[in-house]
Amino acid sequence: MTRLAQTAGLTDVQQEILKTVREFVDKEIIPVATELEHRDEYPQQIVDGLKELGLFGLMIPEEYGGLGESLLTYALCVEEIARGWMSVSGIINTHFIVAYMLKQHGTQEQKDHFLPRMALGEVRGAFSMSEPGLGSDVSAITSKAVKDGDEYVLNGQKMWLTNGGTSTLVAVLCRSDEGHPEGTAPHKSMTTFLVEKEPGFGEVRPGLTIPGKIDKMGYKGVDTTELIMDGLRIPANRVLGGQTGRGFYQMMDGVEVGRVNVAARGCGVAQRAFELGVSYAQQRNTFGKPIAQHQAIQFKLAEMATKVEAAHAMMVNAARKKDSGERNDLEAGMAKYLASEYCKEVVEDAFRIHGGYGFSKEYEIERLYREAPMLLIGEGTAEIQKMIIGRRLLEEYRLQG
Ligand SMILES: Cc1cc2nc3c(=O)[nH]c(=O)nc-3n(C[C@H](O)[C@H](O)[C@H](O)COP(=O)(O)OP(=O)(O)OC[C@H]3O[C@@H](n4cnc5c(N)ncnc54)[C@H](O)[C@@H]3O)c2cc1C
Repeated sequence: MTRLAQTAGLTDVQQEILKTVREFVDKEIIPVATELEHRDEYPQQIVDGLKELGLFGLMIPEEYGGLGESLLTYALCVEEIARGWMSVSGIINTHFIVAYMLKQHGTQEQKDHFLPRMALGEVRGAFSMSEPGLGSDVSAITSKAVKDGDEYVLNGQKMWLTNGGTSTLVAVLCRSDEGHPEGTAPHKSMTTFLVEKEPGFGEVRPGLTIPGKIDKMGYKGVDTTELIMDGLRIPANRVLGGQTGRGFYQMMDGVEVGRVNVAARGCGVAQRAFELGVSYAQQRNTFGKPIAQHQAIQFKLAEMATKVEAAHAMMVNAARKKDSGERNDLEAGMAKYLASEYCKEVVEDAFRIHGGYGFSKEYEIERLYREAPMLLIGEGTAEIQKMIIGRRLLEEYRLQG
């Protein structure tokens, strides 16, 4: 079932990569995803397979041992993986964002130190902005870093770290007043720290505790955690880019490519929901014929497929714009907003097509129904996307004179 979500103009290499990933998803992910998800089990075997395919280094430059591929290739792979199981795409997403931030903003020493091992999946990345009291309003961050000789001492509590337990490198955003006197704009007094740690839970490094997994309604398998810093000492050479006060911009840059990634996940989950819906509709009979032959159900399928196509086109457009070196915040915001809303709607329609069986844990759509809402929240809620889109539109369409 590959009629939908085609992408024109791909190179032979891109097509080959996508074919390999699609086969991996069909063979290694889809058959086990729902069972693992119900047990909230980390998909170690799948992660090992992704490592072998080189997916942890997909966008890391070749000079550091990665495949040096574009954002478009990455997003199309994410779409395929999310079609199999959204949680697996979550495992590579934070890694990809941290590698991207290092590539764009890291010092040469930081790139040499981390990127080759990140390309192999030996070092695994997570990023941490959110706190118990804030998510959308990043400028309100309270976690604090204070300079002490050649080190910084970090204190504070972070919330909602995807891959918080399994990662070994966390990009942590803190307020750092050094060199930024009182009264400095909040976004100019933030710094990203590259925090290395052991995987696992409990005290994973002196002064750093990962308490345990947060119990979630969906998006299971991948670990989401808190992070507590209590006198955590980080050497000054682990300030991303070697300069304090740049953290807010670095994180926003990371989240911007992350938005294309979330859009791609929405596309993948919506595609799978459509596949499940169109298949079930041809098997279930009511009033003497398959429900697919009732016009009301055909209309649903038509709407679902149209949404899958529209979301895919916007996601591809946003990725291509970034790859061309242009600013893509407007396109990424629109793609993320539309793909996550459409994903929720397509999943709900597939759920309705399943009738009562959609409510049974035996059917895959039950899992998708619990997964889709996460996309409305992660990497900025719908309201935040609309704020970004609205501001950019007013810049572009400012009245003259
Ligand atoms: C499963 C999961 C994984 C996550 N992973 C990570 C991660 O790896 N790293 C990380 O740093 N964070 C992560 N997050 C956090 C996520 O980014 C935040 O939850 C998200 O940004 C929303 O923040 P909040 O939950 O504090 O909601 P709030 O900011 O409190 O918002 C609550 C509601 O108010 C609305 N709202 C807020 N401000 C405005 C406004 N100005 N105008 C209109 N409406 C507004 C929001 O849209 C929302 O509907 C994760 C979250 C989840 C659920």
